[in-house]
Amino acid sequence: MNFHPSRAAGLDRLEAFLPHTGADYARTRNHDHGTGRSNVSQLSPWLHAGLLSEREVLERTLDAHSRADADKFVSEVFWRVYFKGYLEQRPTIWRVFCEARSDALAALSENAGRAKAYAEATEGRTGIPAFDHWACELIETGYLHNHARMWFASIWIFTLKLDWTLGADFFLRHLMDGDAASNTLSWRWVAGLHTKGKTYQARASNIEQYTAEHPKGPLAADGLSDEAEALEEEQEHQRRDLDLPETKPGSPLDDRYALLLHDEAAHHAPLCLPHAPALVIGAARPDARSPEPVGDRARAFAHGAVESGVADARQAFDCAGTVWTDEGELVQLLESRDVTQIVTGHIPTGWTRDVLQPKLTSLPDDIAVTQLLPDLHRLTWPHARAGFFRVKKEIDCVLGGIGVAEG
Ligand SMILES: Cc1cc2nc3c(=O)[nH]c(=O)nc-3n(C[C@H](O)[C@H](O)[C@H](O)COP(=O)(O)OP(=O)(O)OC[C@H]3O[C@@H](n4cnc5c(N)ncnc54)[C@H](O)[C@@H]3O)c2cc1C
Repeated sequence: MNFHPSRAAGLDRLEAFLPHTGADYARTRNHDHGTGRSNVSQLSPWLHAGLLSEREVLERTLDAHSRADADKFVSEVFWRVYFKGYLEQRPTIWRVFCEARSDALAALSENAGRAKAYAEATEGRTGIPAFDHWACELIETGYLHNHARMWFASIWIFTLKLDWTLGADFFLRHLMDGDAASNTLSWRWVAGLHTKGKTYQARASNIEQYTAEHPKGPLAADGLSDEAEALEEEQEHQRRDLDLPETKPGSPLDDRYALLLHDEAAHHAPLCLPHAPALVIGAARPDARSPEPVGDRARAFAHGAVESGVADARQAFDCAGTVWTDEGELVQLLESRDVTQIVTGHIPTGWTRDVLQPKLTSLPDDIAVTQLLPDLHRLTWPHARAGFFRVKKEIDCVLGGIGVAEG
């Protein structure tokens, strides 16, 4: 599988996988065949980076299959949108995760036994063959199958009894698709914190069954804990009202506006801009994912996505392009090009907002910043208040609302 960080490569992967987004996907998606897999799309790095939009994935899927045949694949894409909307309404989950992760990292340096167990887990040396295999696969490839992510998180929490925030951090640092919402909330789901009290328990027989076609043979995981008691937390994460950015700019854009491309909105195509920007600015910040070192695959994909996004925008709009690094002064960059407005894809809760928002809010008042949110998210997020079932019930209504239909 070639994970090239460009929109063209993402579109190629989408077209190649389209024949499998129907009944095939529902039947086979839970099997992890190893790195030669072809039963899941592996589109998540492109979706996370905003090189592809959820809308176009859904549109092409329903061009190729009936709504009924594509139900499972469509639902999975909506899980991504659901998690984004849920975290947006409960941003304290991200803040508390970051604080707990800092505490857990500090605790490692004070406890040699815990530090050893953490090193063994993240270096694939626990002695549980399946777990060790996935730890190495994650570091080497920057991707893991969904079922492997579930098993891995469950073993991390309930068998190895390591802090869940350190496991979530390990994923964030190495997954090319590492996403503050899907990752944090999935780890919380496994731990029994998302659906309170309901945990996910990995079982050796289930792992063996669903990895039967693995090139190394079924993966073994003897000695897993038979108990998966839900974790508890003190903090209640109150829901806050959504304050949604527009899908299209509310007022005409300045003639000389700058398009800002970032880790989660690295391409202009999904933004449907009304006219060309004067300048395109690339701001990739993968190292902000964690205080610990970020993996090569994840970092290279994020930088490559923004670089290819800048190159595509320069070509499409015949405009200037530049890179804004963390040390660089944005205001000088804008002034040197006579730019007074920035337009960017939505900057979601997570490290992308943590690192970019303070810089944007400290710009002089005469520089306007306009964020754009896809209509799919605008229509889905109000339903992402509690469990996924509310979103699931609204999928057809949302698809109708954005003009995506089968056939
Ligand atoms: C512990 C854990 C951590 C995870 N961390 C992340 C993460 O950091 N980033 C991330 O994008 N996904 C995460 N997921 C969700 C899911 O595992 C991946 O989205 C999926 O495996 C990506 O592979 P794919 O593109 O081949 O998916 P496919 O099965 O082909 O699905 C198509 C698309 O639907 C979306 N999707 C599928 N399953 C899920 C799901 N369970 N939750 C949310 N969206 C889904 C993805 O955007 C995916 O690209 C995590 C799941 C678990 C259990």
